[in-house]
Amino acid sequence: MVRTRFAPSPTGYLHIGGVRTALFNWLFARKHGGQFILRIDDTDQERNVESALQPILDGFRWVGLDWDEGPEVGGPHGPYYQSQRKHRYQEAVQQLLTNGFAYRDYARPEEIKAERDAAEQEKRSFQYSRRWRAETDADAARFEAEGRQAVVRLLMPREGACQFRDLVRGDVEFQWSDEQDHVIQKPDGSALYNLANVVDDFDFQITHVIRAEEHLPNTPRQIFIAQGLGYAPPQYAHLPYVAEPGSKNKLSKRKIHEYLKNPEFKKIYEHGVRIAQAVGRTVSADTFNPVIVDFYRDVGYLPDAIVNYLLLLGWAFDDTREDFTRSEMIEAFSLERVNKAPASFDPQKLFAFQERYMQRMPVKQKSAMALPYLQKAGYISEPPPCDVGPVLIKIVAAAGDRIKTAGDVLDYSDFFTADDQLSYDEKAFEKRLKKAPEAKLLLAKFRNVLADADSFEVAMTEQLLKEFCESEGIKIGDVIHALRVAVTGKAVGFGMFETLEILGRDRVLTRIDRALARA
Ligand code: GLU
Repeated sequence: MVRTRFAPSPTGYLHIGGVRTALFNWLFARKHGGQFILRIDDTDQERNVESALQPILDGFRWVGLDWDEGPEVGGPHGPYYQSQRKHRYQEAVQQLLTNGFAYRDYARPEEIKAERDAAEQEKRSFQYSRRWRAETDADAARFEAEGRQAVVRLLMPREGACQFRDLVRGDVEFQWSDEQDHVIQKPDGSALYNLANVVDDFDFQITHVIRAEEHLPNTPRQIFIAQGLGYAPPQYAHLPYVAEPGSKNKLSKRKIHEYLKNPEFKKIYEHGVRIAQAVGRTVSADTFNPVIVDFYRDVGYLPDAIVNYLLLLGWAFDDTREDFTRSEMIEAFSLERVNKAPASFDPQKLFAFQERYMQRMPVKQKSAMALPYLQKAGYISEPPPCDVGPVLIKIVAAAGDRIKTAGDVLDYSDFFTADDQLSYDEKAFEKRLKKAPEAKLLLAKFRNVLADADSFEVAMTEQLLKEFCESEGIKIGDVIHALRVAVTGKAVGFGMFETLEILGRDRVLTRIDRALARA
């Protein structure tokens, strides 16, 4: 039975690179009919865990990575919060002390530092002298009488090598002499990451530890701890980390201001900001940025597009195939195809996936996704009036591929504004109406043609405009721009005749009259 896990710390946000790592764990578990577990690494108790965890859980739910055991769902191996598992860590520390894999160390931090500095000066690698190691209770009593406090350190081997097979990186070897006697328990009795991690992976019966490459150096010490506790270590697979756009450095939320200097990145960011602001969010690059999953949810990306893109961040099926449904990716996924090199996060490429997925989405579904944006921005009430649905569907159909994320529907909010409140792109209004007396005159004439039209269907208004242009001896462009600005307030949009049909005669005439009066 395959069991994998993802172990986030409650940081208040879900990092896009974290989703990639979680996705690979999830895929591996699903592929092998196993289980995917969420464990919360909250030993660092300074923050309010619940509020810092919720965005992470919500993020996973939104992208559709469901977990079989963990917070909110429970499970037979709980608790799944490290803060609730302290007794297990204490038991493990005792066991390591008893088995001679760890020792109580009474060195003061400055004493360790002095040894480290001396090693540095003599240009040799540092290895703790173990001078303040308590080998007996009498030693401990003596050190304590000096006012010293104990940490527990691993009694690491100093000869030979730790070898293991990594499912991504192949055979890996670490020299024990390069290792330190890592602290596993602080003076206040709290356990540190390496120990807690090994105990949890054992208790949760994790078979495959699939995690970011930065944890590779932790693996020898974790294998050592597992040995000391008599556990069979899990299999390891260290994934290349998700790098920032155009570099090999790790992608970081904090470096957003640097990334925004990249025009492509900035474009994606600004597109999102426009939508978020329209729905009333106060956004700043620190809380709303493309390194965090919430960004995509708020802008109206599709989880399937994101997951498909993330699949290819460090994994490839072959040189060409890019599109995978969830079931196809479960079927195709294997750790052997994970790359060793870091994969650069490219929000523009993600956007390209988004566009493709959106193009394939049925209009009705797209409309349903779009509706909340119009509601939040205040154009449509909640619940929506019953005539809104069909209109919205027509708009979404007419807009077609112009709606690339659900929030893009806000580009068409002018359909939902009251006719006497339509706002104008002032530059376009000037150019096409105010400073275009010819066009204004033609528009006034064509308005009367529209007033008498038999219907407002696309084919009808199209025919009428054609005839109008012929009889006036003008080109379509001489009047259509003025017409567009008058009825939508904007210089660009989807098909003019679709626009007229959706608005209908009364609204079109009202809007034209208002624009003419204003110009
Ligand atoms: N909480 C750790 C991290 O996010 C988990 C490490 C691990 O997967 O072993 O880096």
